[in-house]
Amino acid sequence: MTLPIVRSVADLRAVVAGWRKAGLSVALVPTMGALHEGHLSLVRLAKAKADRVIVTLFVNPTQFAPHEDFDTYPRSEETDVALLQEAKCDLLYAPTAAVMYGPGFATGISVSGVSEPLDGLARPHFFGGVATVVAKLLIQAGPDIAIFGEKDYQQLQVIKRMVVDLDLPVTILGAPTARAKDGLALSSRNAYLTPAQRKVAGQLNLVMAKAAEAVAKGGAISDAEAQGYAALLAEGFDRIDYFEFRDALDLRRLGPGPAEGEPRLFAAAWLGKTRLIDNG
Ligand code: AMP
Repeated sequence: MTLPIVRSVADLRAVVAGWRKAGLSVALVPTMGALHEGHLSLVRLAKAKADRVIVTLFVNPTQFAPHEDFDTYPRSEETDVALLQEAKCDLLYAPTAAVMYGPGFATGISVSGVSEPLDGLARPHFFGGVATVVAKLLIQAGPDIAIFGEKDYQQLQVIKRMVVDLDLPVTILGAPTARAKDGLALSSRNAYLTPAQRKVAGQLNLVMAKAAEAVAKGGAISDAEAQGYAALLAEGFDRIDYFEFRDALDLRRLGPGPAEGEPRLFAAAWLGKTRLIDNG
């Protein structure tokens, strides 16, 4: 069967209403396209958890700052459709910006707390754009569950907070990070990397694993962070936005001494114009 594609809220709701009438459960997987194995692992999890799976494809302009890569963000709808068809996705929802942001659009969702550190500092516009677009997608589709990758761990926590706070009737599930052979977290933005940068990129997860191991063995968090930071620069990263241990649940800063609570390491580092993030 060819993958059905809808581009309007009315068409999306008509399909979901038909499924509901037949008593079928629905999972939603929001994406910005340029699909890779990480996205497809979310689709597989969605298929295991629900009767029908909707993937959304929307490169959301409001989560990019003017100086960021909205215009050059990789777009490959034809390939995405082929991959989703192969993955037995049931519906692709690919709205236009005009559908998502009608004339006079003036509403924004702001989640405080978990959205503030890390990417919230480095990209101040980002989580407001993400929360608003994800709220819209959830309200438009009305799924039972929605699946997000732990690759974007802070985003996952922001969405969980928003869904609880706004009583949105959906269960949010996190999915593990899919990685390349050398451990680099798969990302649509990896396509920007030159072969030389791609080699350096593979060091990010290795440096992080070393720091996490040192802390797991009782080492001081501030030492592990300083060593990790220096190691990334030595490996050839151009700039580091953060390399920080935080509590896995509320993202509160840990350290400087040995870890208490549930430590999770978060990093964002630049290779040229490409910003890579990882956590674990
Ligand atoms: P994006 O298209 O980058 O906005 O990502 C769409 C969804 O896929 C988000 O929930 C991401 O967290 C998730 N995702 C992206 N990369 C990966 C990965 N390597 N492993 C697992 N999930 C991912």
